[in-house]
Amino acid sequence: MGFSTDAIHAGQQPDEATNAVITPIYMTSTYAQPEYGTSKGYKYGRTANLTRFSLERNIATLEKARYGLAFSSGVAAVHSICTLLKNGDHVIVGDNVYGGTYRLFQFVMKDFGLDFTWVDTSDVANIKSAIKENTKLIYVETPTNPLLTLTDLKAVSSLAKENDLITVCDNTFMSPYFQNPLIHGIDITLHSTTKYLNGHSDVIGGIVVTNNEKIFERLKYIQNALGAVPSPFDCWLTLRSTKTLAVRMDRHNTNAMAIANALKSNPAINRVIYPGLPDHPHHELAKKQMNGFGGMVSIELPSFEDAKRLMNHVKVFTLAESLGGVESLLCHPASMTHASVPKEVKDKIGLTDGIVRLSVGIEDVEDLISDLTYAIK
Ligand SMILES: *Cc1c(COP(=O)(O)O)cnc(C)c1O
Repeated sequence: MGFSTDAIHAGQQPDEATNAVITPIYMTSTYAQPEYGTSKGYKYGRTANLTRFSLERNIATLEKARYGLAFSSGVAAVHSICTLLKNGDHVIVGDNVYGGTYRLFQFVMKDFGLDFTWVDTSDVANIKSAIKENTKLIYVETPTNPLLTLTDLKAVSSLAKENDLITVCDNTFMSPYFQNPLIHGIDITLHSTTKYLNGHSDVIGGIVVTNNEKIFERLKYIQNALGAVPSPFDCWLTLRSTKTLAVRMDRHNTNAMAIANALKSNPAINRVIYPGLPDHPHHELAKKQMNGFGGMVSIELPSFEDAKRLMNHVKVFTLAESLGGVESLLCHPASMTHASVPKEVKDKIGLTDGIVRLSVGIEDVEDLISDLTYAIK
């Protein structure tokens, strides 16, 4: 089936009780056992919920995966992946991953005996030279946030296979519509469904997908053991949202491209960072590895004062953290989403105080461009 057909139908069939076309929200914590020792496979809400199962099957299908597991947030999904590892294991991580992932690894998981090495994964040689005796997992984000640097997923997965390592890709920025890491050989893909998959800025959620049965069985055990499951209502909202993922992503993509093109010649801006621009350092890889360039654009202004002026004068864009919703947002990564990343790390990766990150929504693009152009002036 094509992507849109799967998005609308996968994981869903008319409800058994009434033939309701839309999967019901099964708000129940427990299930009746008609006789001692019998059940329909559903016994307790943390372990089994049909609305959640539908969402898991739906997104797994969109990611070309056999298995999916939903979590109460993107960060809970990342945490669950960490618990595949043991005290003393070593992880190689991209040095520009989501700020909350950095915080979880550096300030929480380290205390549980996991060892992390932070490298620029856009050069696979950096990953290779970081591999140690106890390395177990490689964790990448591509494109990164907010610098939109790409990592070659095929190269990472073949390096990992040679060394018997698990590979994880956070695919939140692209959504399954524009990128499917598993088809490039990655073992585990995760999303903050809070972003494009839900797309309406009204749910916090996460999902993990894989084709590896052993990893799935262990993660399913962990999902139930840690208990960070999403509510049936949140699953239902996200399932409703994935139906329109293709049309939303197409519009995010064309709007972002138009904004990047309109701003790149603006003399008040130092730099426009967008993988769809031919001058982006990884534009060729972007064309090869992704089916589009996404809705995220970063712009660098000369100073923090300039960035602040822009953020305070927009009227259609909203100054807020997060991304991936139908409405356009902008934020200041250095002090907002990446506040917990130390200054020396920011300097190393080039995350300056003049950078403003745009999450381009699906409004009329003329309104978005004039809003930005006015605020920059
Ligand atoms: C938001 C985000 C997360 C964390 O997800 P939550 O749903 O906020 O817990 C992880 N990775 C990326 C790339 C994100 O943008």
